[in-house]
Amino acid sequence: MQSIVIVGGGVAGLELATRLGRQFGPFHKDRVILIDTAPTHFWKPLLHEVAAGTIDPASHTIDYARQAIDNHFTFLCGEVVHVDRARHTLTVRGRRFDDGHGGDSSHTLIGYGRLVLAYGSVTNFFGIPGAEQHCLSLDSVERAETFRKRFLNLCEAAGRRRSLHAQSAAPALDIVIVGAGPTGIELAADLRHTVDTLAHYGLSGLAAPHQVRIRIVERGPQVLPSLDAQASSLAVRKLEAMGIEICTDTAVAEVRESEVATVDGRVFPAAITVWAAGVKGPDFSTRLNVLLNRSNQVLVDGQLRSLTDPQIFALGDCSTLQNPDKTAMAPPSAQAARQQAIYLAKLLTHEKPNQLKGFQYRDYGTLVSLGRGDAVGILRRAIGSHHLRVKGTFALAMYKLTYQRHVMGHLGLWRMCANVLARWSRSKMLMPVRWH
Ligand SMILES: Cc1cc2nc3c(=O)[nH]c(=O)nc-3n(C[C@H](O)[C@H](O)[C@H](O)COP(=O)(O)OP(=O)(O)OC[C@H]3O[C@@H](n4cnc5c(N)ncnc54)[C@H](O)[C@@H]3O)c2cc1C
Repeated sequence: MQSIVIVGGGVAGLELATRLGRQFGPFHKDRVILIDTAPTHFWKPLLHEVAAGTIDPASHTIDYARQAIDNHFTFLCGEVVHVDRARHTLTVRGRRFDDGHGGDSSHTLIGYGRLVLAYGSVTNFFGIPGAEQHCLSLDSVERAETFRKRFLNLCEAAGRRRSLHAQSAAPALDIVIVGAGPTGIELAADLRHTVDTLAHYGLSGLAAPHQVRIRIVERGPQVLPSLDAQASSLAVRKLEAMGIEICTDTAVAEVRESEVATVDGRVFPAAITVWAAGVKGPDFSTRLNVLLNRSNQVLVDGQLRSLTDPQIFALGDCSTLQNPDKTAMAPPSAQAARQQAIYLAKLLTHEKPNQLKGFQYRDYGTLVSLGRGDAVGILRRAIGSHHLRVKGTFALAMYKLTYQRHVMGHLGLWRMCANVLARWSRSKMLMPVRWH
């Protein structure tokens, strides 16, 4: 029996490997091979919390090797660098720990029966001058950690300057976030709380939280376009009450080392600029020799098969559906990636896959955290065909449940509860933000 090889163990890939492994059982571990560059899985929607220092990423990871043993699949840690479609093989550059002795990583050749691409996305800077060079982005744990460290250093430096020029009314530190989708909004709200906490504990050198100005710049007319207008204005009111400035209908023309210039001629000072305004497939997509859209995403049909090669499937952020029925299009979100993985697990184990209907995305709504104790969102088709607008602690509880459901799906109820308890106990001994 030829193997199903899955490239990328993110939201989509890990869900798929776990479901297939459970279905095939303990005697067919070689039928499913999952490959990821990292040894552990991290749920990307938590990255803004890593950046703001409100969670420790190490306590939110799932170990792929352990997950593979428990769910009957094979895991390989390494980066897929080449796919030979004619020979049905891929080349994996093995992971090598830096032990100070240099040396190269080994390369392994792996054969596949069917190949599933689930390697996610990278930030899309849309060719805006200076954006890639001067902006930080949050598309990996490492980048979120880089942001956190830079932010803490700048708070400390701004605090020192402030103590020398105590009279100045201008903000001591300016942060600009480009993009008012969930990532930008959640990051802004969390940063505001981090600044408050640092000031409260006397750690940043900034005497008052308002000395850090956080500004969100959005090209479109509405923040959180995935919400309706009413929920979106509620979010705006809450953010403005936190002192966060929002500039909608404002397109960025250029990003410079310490400022952001807009198309309408304004210039915003920015000690840090964060780009949270879109994704694209990584450059790796271009080496696959399959049909892509303009954002480097693999074009797939209704059964998530590449339009070029029916033995290759693609799902999650690295793909996009080529379908005349636009309602089936899925946005690059964890919700869509999970639904596609569930669909593909069914398709790949179906006796007559061609008889299975095409993938249909169902939007169950959006929940956006606004920092400690608050969230807003919309639950679609919550009561029959009616939508339910939610806010406050109820919305936050729903938001947190989404993540716990993800963890429970992989680790089971007891280990999920043990994790929550362990984190809660540890939080009783630590500062509310990671400041070192
Ligand atoms: C800061 C942030 C906040 C977000 N918030 C939300 C939210 O609130 N709600 C929501 O629905 N969505 C949210 N998203 C989007 C969501 O996280 C993604 O849509 C989702 O993770 C996509 O899943 P995926 O499996 O396609 O890719 P990913 O989860 O990105 O996984 C891709 C995996 O592929 C691996 N990989 C990449 N290249 C290779 C290679 N060459 N070889 C081997 N492995 C490789 C990577 O290591 C990674 O593990 C957010 C994203 C970010 C960045």
